[in-house]
Amino acid sequence: MNYDRIVLRYGDLTMKGRNRKVFEDKMLKSVKRAMKPFPEVTYWRTYGRMHVLLNGAPHQPVIDRLKDLFGIVSVSPVISVPSELEAIQAAALDIMASLKKQPATFKVNAKRAWKGFPHGSHEMNHLVGGHILPRYPELRVDVHHPELELKLDIHEEATHLYWETIPAAGGFPYATSGKAMLLLSGGIDSPVAGWLALRKGLELEAVHFHSYPFTSEQATDKVKTLTRRLSYYAGVPIRLHLVPFTDIQTKIAHGNQENLTITLMRRAMLRITELLAEQVKANGIVTGESLGQVASQTLSSMNVIGRVATLPMIKPLITMDKQEIIEIARQIDTYETSILPFEDCCTLFLPKSPSTNPNLRVVERVEHSMEDYDLLIKQAVENTETILLSFNENNNEASQDEENWF
Ligand code: ATP
Ligand code: MG
Repeated sequence: MNYDRIVLRYGDLTMKGRNRKVFEDKMLKSVKRAMKPFPEVTYWRTYGRMHVLLNGAPHQPVIDRLKDLFGIVSVSPVISVPSELEAIQAAALDIMASLKKQPATFKVNAKRAWKGFPHGSHEMNHLVGGHILPRYPELRVDVHHPELELKLDIHEEATHLYWETIPAAGGFPYATSGKAMLLLSGGIDSPVAGWLALRKGLELEAVHFHSYPFTSEQATDKVKTLTRRLSYYAGVPIRLHLVPFTDIQTKIAHGNQENLTITLMRRAMLRITELLAEQVKANGIVTGESLGQVASQTLSSMNVIGRVATLPMIKPLITMDKQEIIEIARQIDTYETSILPFEDCCTLFLPKSPSTNPNLRVVERVEHSMEDYDLLIKQAVENTETILLSFNENNNEASQDEENWF
């Protein structure tokens, strides 16, 4: 088919006034960034919709990219013809002939935006429908639940025909909801949490704690791959903060509070993350926690762990089942990376019987009794290595010029 444009539908229609303007501007920015590999495309905007004009760019890769962008609810490829009856009828027939599967029922839904067009909307439904029907003896009209709805938008400059509505990622455009830190472990859950946070319009910086040499280089590579994957959905490179956690973990492991190891580690992670958040002006912390999944994710554990942080904690997976999380991980193509066997710092230091109900006072006492604990936290922040990762392999950290992306 000779598509000439893609219609994008966006938006939470409840959004009004200034918010809507901000949303639409960011949406356009986000689309333009994603369309960089297709320099020929141009844009046309109208209330609640945007058209991406292909100008010869291949439609399938453009659609595939657009449907992964946040803020877009659905996309439709469009064929435009001159606003003349014969041209519209001919295009409608071409569309019917191009369908892989012939529908049993259909309807034509014409909208005449250009009042100078000689036939009204209702009349057009009949003129176009009546042109198709004799050529498809099995085909019936069903105005209520048609298998195929052929839409015609009649404007003075052209008539747009479309019939496919391809669902897209939904949510809000990138960076319309502020910035948060994502605790990214390399497991199945946190990349999914990151994707959901991005979908809600959050800008993210990822934080990963490693215990080199106890954890391998491959474990960090996994997290880099996952960050790149998230960067594809964000449409911009994402910063990954690699925090050296060996000294703190060793210190915690050498205390004689084995059942509190995880609680103490998680609190240390949050303290470090808050300090990093302050440096980069982030206002929240996203984690992949899911209620009841492991000992540290009971409500009472989360309470004791979370007390150390003052920023709001965002836990997109909190009430989800593991199966639901895995399904999203597969859809967003992080699952295969997440299940690679390289262990992260927490798995290695996992105690035999982690507490599911730690006592806040005991935990705080243990922390105070650890020599140079605050210093170790500070050093971990100072020795954090930050890299910028992009989904585009050729555009990796070494050659990265962040400004070009915005
Ligand atoms: P995941 O599948 O994301 O690893 P999990 O089910 O293994 O999660 P935990 O190990 O309890 O659960 O981790 C809970 C959350 O803590 C993770 O989802 C992640 O947000 C954060 N986290 C755990 N380990 C690390 C790490 N090494 N670096 C950064 N964040 C981490
Ligand atoms: Mg994990």
